Amino acid sequence: MIKNSTLTIALTKGRILAETMPLLAKAGIEPLESIGSSRKLLFETNSPAVSLVLLRGSDVPTYVRHGAADVGIVGKDLLMEFGVEGLYEVLDLEIARCRLMTAGLSDRKPSEAKVRVATKFINVAKQHYASRGIQAQLIKLYGAMELAPLMDLADEIVDIVDTGNTLRANGMSPRDHIADISSRLVVNKASMRTRHTQISELIDRLSKAVDEQGGRA
Ligand code: AMP
Repeated sequence: MIKNSTLTIALTKGRILAETMPLLAKAGIEPLESIGSSRKLLFETNSPAVSLVLLRGSDVPTYVRHGAADVGIVGKDLLMEFGVEGLYEVLDLEIARCRLMTAGLSDRKPSEAKVRVATKFINVAKQHYASRGIQAQLIKLYGAMELAPLMDLADEIVDIVDTGNTLRANGMSPRDHIADISSRLVVNKASMRTRHTQISELIDRLSKAVDEQGGRA
């Protein structure tokens, strides 16, 4: 269990974590043991008042919304998909930049009538196709979206694209740009009131760390 007096920051595992740790270090927060090489999920830091918890990105908004963590670092894609109810999105950390896009097989023309779409971003996809007046049959997947058109499960996917290498390696090309994505700092609404001084200081320090990195991450 974490002490009640501790400010808990929920971090997203994986790609985002690698870019988060240097930013936290710049803001003066460092775990007491190396995060990457441990199976532990809860970490104390050099500041006794701050602890870190490692989660899947899609669980970060849930932990913060319910106040199990006071603050979280999570991709904008997941905030778009799961909503920001109970949260304040306070800072663009300008890390883990990528794009949310639709994509399809390079040798097929996009359908303008009805399209089968495989994605883990069901809400984002629903909104996107509706805004273009395209009827979409949405198929929820949990990973390896780029396989779906190859296996004729779907005509298009909605997924995160960074270099585009994954799409190219699977004979696909990006089509519509839905949104630019980066990681955001989110705060539980109640924590923002009850721990205002501590959280304001954290936002301030992280904001300076982002400026120092010059948005080049
Ligand atoms: P790429 O081949 O560089 O276009 O990367 C595409 C794959 O990497 C996607 O399937 C994503 O799941 C993952 N990915 C790339 N950038 C990010 C990011 N910033 N956050 C989470 N996943 C990412």
